[in-house]
Amino acid sequence: GIRESDGVPHLSLDIGGTLIKMVYFSSNSSESIDNRVNSSLKDKMSTSSGNLHYGIRNGGLHFTKFETSKISDCIEFISSKQLQHYGDRYYAAPTNDKNIIKATGGGAFKFADLFREKLGVTLDKVDEMDCLVTGSNFLLKAMHHEAFTYIDGQKEFVQIDHKDLYPYLLVNIGSGVSMIKVESDTKFERVSGTSVGGGTFLGLGKLLTNCKSFDELLELSRQGNNRVIDMLVGEIYGGNDYTKIGLASTAIASSFGKPISENKELEDYKAEDVARSLLRMISNNIGQIAYLNALHFGLKRIIFGGFFIRGHAYTMDTISVAVNFWSKGEAKAMFLRHEGFLGALGAFLSYKE
Ligand code: ADP
Repeated sequence: GIRESDGVPHLSLDIGGTLIKMVYFSSNSSESIDNRVNSSLKDKMSTSSGNLHYGIRNGGLHFTKFETSKISDCIEFISSKQLQHYGDRYYAAPTNDKNIIKATGGGAFKFADLFREKLGVTLDKVDEMDCLVTGSNFLLKAMHHEAFTYIDGQKEFVQIDHKDLYPYLLVNIGSGVSMIKVESDTKFERVSGTSVGGGTFLGLGKLLTNCKSFDELLELSRQGNNRVIDMLVGEIYGGNDYTKIGLASTAIASSFGKPISENKELEDYKAEDVARSLLRMISNNIGQIAYLNALHFGLKRIIFGGFFIRGHAYTMDTISVAVNFWSKGEAKAMFLRHEGFLGALGAFLSYKE
């Protein structure tokens, strides 16, 4: 008989500077890591299949990642699961003599030949900003328990009213950072960005601490104390707050400023303290730039995505505090459970178009 998986797009890719994000559908529900996909996605997926039960009963969407530098692992994975053979049935392009995978990110260009050679598939390129916005809008509208705030160590899920979603600022923190003003389902503009992003954290962190991986660096930062590395207001003001301009003695006056007066070498500082200061500096800086853009464009809601965040408490706390501090409580930082998969999900949803 007809397999339930026939006619469903099986795979999409977001091939970034550091990581490859993959969203794929599997009818093997026992494998599913995410069966919370609600009716909206099922509707989308069932449009072509005529079967309303996709998403929960007959399987689910999976979210996985690979390092871009190890793209062969990704190709091996696709091949071992035979995922490349389904896209064409769904896509039904007029001259459909080859398999197609929707792909976004720079790697969709860079690795097109490799995918053709190794898997016999054509990467059908989808615009990166389009995908980020489509993925973000979809998650915010269709998923339960997706968006949340993180305040004083407390995660609180927020269900945003569809009518009240726009406008918002989407801040995607990948290797670099993109800031996108999202005004409607289809209207958006990349208004700003910064090259000081997740790649900076990982690159500088590797140089300064000899960590080999992001997870190692993040774990190290968990145990550190940034005050050993950062220069605080109190140290300049002899332990006093600078009340006239509203700065507490514990506020950071200068990130990485302490070694200036200490006559020490890098080896004299603990790697965990360096990692913590670095994470704090970068998260704080992104939070501040995001807030300034939100202020400039009159946006109250700032939604942070990208794999830099990784649900990490200290990162989210720093960003939330930065947004709250600079906006004097006016603007709110929100995070997404599927933070790293906005682009890949947007590419997946583009099969329908
Ligand atoms: P890109 O599309 O540019 O690769 P991502 O959204 O995938 O961007 O985020 C990449 C960033 O996420 C890295 O620069 C790093 O800061 C962080 N990161 C999180 N997890 C990992 C990981 N396992 N390996 C490498 N970087 C990671």
